[in-house]
Amino acid sequence: MCRHLGWLGEPVSVASLVLEPAHGLLVQSYAPRRQRHGLLNADGWGVGFFDGATPRRWRSASPLWGDASFASVAPALRSTCVVAAVRSATVGMPIEASACAPFSDGRWLLSHNGVVDRAVLPPSARAESTNDSALLAALIFDRGLDALADTLAEVATADPNARLNILAADGSRLLATTWGDTLSVLRRDDGVVLASEPYDDDPAWRDIPDRHLVTVDDSGVHLVPLKGSP
Ligand code: GLN
Repeated sequence: MCRHLGWLGEPVSVASLVLEPAHGLLVQSYAPRRQRHGLLNADGWGVGFFDGATPRRWRSASPLWGDASFASVAPALRSTCVVAAVRSATVGMPIEASACAPFSDGRWLLSHNGVVDRAVLPPSARAESTNDSALLAALIFDRGLDALADTLAEVATADPNARLNILAADGSRLLATTWGDTLSVLRRDDGVVLASEPYDDDPAWRDIPDRHLVTVDDSGVHLVPLKGSP
């Protein structure tokens, strides 16, 4: 499992979201507070952000805490829409930068926190790696993000043990699901953060219930139950 974070709002630096918070993704890479599966997230990381309509990514198969180059540049990377993740690879999955979220189809950035049996996912020439998350991302891109809830319902039927926590962005919208792991939302004056776990102890963080779809756009934060929600 992994930890991920999304931002939609005014332009802010990637460092202010990922590196500077007291319990941000940098600290979550070695000391997550709410992670149920795995003790740390040392198998790589990825930061994606929109530069106008263009998604740009920086990914690595090394621990985030050791990356001095990223720490040096991250304060200068500013964006209105960010998707970032730190990875704890599932046993048997490749450790390589292309296996780290966020995945992209050139329009969306997408992170998966969880696990799914690769046997239930169709092979895809579009998948960036051979890990479950890359295959799931390719399937979601093929079906279109508007069909996200239906696609996840289909995958969950084929693999009832799957954990399907998705975080995706297209520059003007964040979409996220809770399916087997935690997600919290923070409404700030300058934007909205979605994160696997709060990056600080601000009492304004709210937990999203399991098996929900969250949409964030300029009209606000919207929550709907997913099929199969308790
Ligand atoms: N199943 C994922 C992988 O190994 C685990 C990491 C995550 O939660 N995305 O790629």
